[in-house]
Amino acid sequence: MASSHTVLMRLVASAYSIAQKAGMIVRRVIAEGDLGIVEKTSATDLQTKADRLAQMSICSSLARKFPKLTIIGEELVVWVDPLDGTKEYTEGLLDNVTVLIGIAYEGKAIAGVINQPYYNYQAGPDATLGRTIWGVLGLGAFGFQLKEVPAGKHIVTTTRSHSNKLVNDCVTAMKPDDVLRVGGAGNKIIQLIEGKASAYVFASPGCKKWDTCAPEVILHAVGGKLTDIHGNSLHYNKEVKHMNSAGVLAALRNYDYYASRVPESVKNALVP
Ligand code: AMP
Ligand code: MG
Ligand code: MG
Repeated sequence: MASSHTVLMRLVASAYSIAQKAGMIVRRVIAEGDLGIVEKTSATDLQTKADRLAQMSICSSLARKFPKLTIIGEELVVWVDPLDGTKEYTEGLLDNVTVLIGIAYEGKAIAGVINQPYYNYQAGPDATLGRTIWGVLGLGAFGFQLKEVPAGKHIVTTTRSHSNKLVNDCVTAMKPDDVLRVGGAGNKIIQLIEGKASAYVFASPGCKKWDTCAPEVILHAVGGKLTDIHGNSLHYNKEVKHMNSAGVLAALRNYDYYASRVPESVKNALVP
């Protein structure tokens, strides 16, 4: 077998085109008009035809191109969210939606691809829809222009459709100048790297490893930091619990400002 570096770069290159294809499926389902919405655990935990078709497309393409992935499966794990921001997708907030493919090696998130199928959708009928952001730890992140929120401004981005008292208490404790409530973990990391928000604060269970793996890599590749609400780094080995039970805390810069303001009551309520 080729060296693990070659496998990784082939995997990243494939994930790039596989995520683009999934993004096309996400657009096609909206264009065809039948979303086929199914409630998973509740009315805010949805699955659509686009989630299902994109999932099948990603998994079959990966299996076809990397039939031996299971051989190195002990060390290399691929975390897929075929459609992140499903709730917003069903409500027409299309630029909240992303396709996430994250690659972990020995439990550490090391490469990630984020396709945003509806990037540019408000730019008029002639605009080219969609973009793909990708990154590898130690190499960098590409497909966007890195921008920071003006120094000293604290703009917190958090969930739009999965709020609760804990989530809101934690956001308030950050003493933010502004709060953005948008869908999708991928979308919130894009806000951090494009200077729209300075921290992603989500003090609740609900977000899964496939939501954070690719976004974490993109953020880390440009010098940011993503952890749970206690400041613990996340692990992505295949035995790990899927749920990020202790929430998410992420920032491009000044991570410590936000980490130091998480209330003890919030920490006590969220067990890793
Ligand atoms: P959000 O910021 O609400 O868009 O959440 C980011 C990701 O975590 C999305 O994939 C959500 O579906 C998922 N998520 C967060 N909270 C919950 C919850 N309470 N139930 C189900 N999924 C959730
Ligand atoms: Mg998701
Ligand atoms: Mg999803």
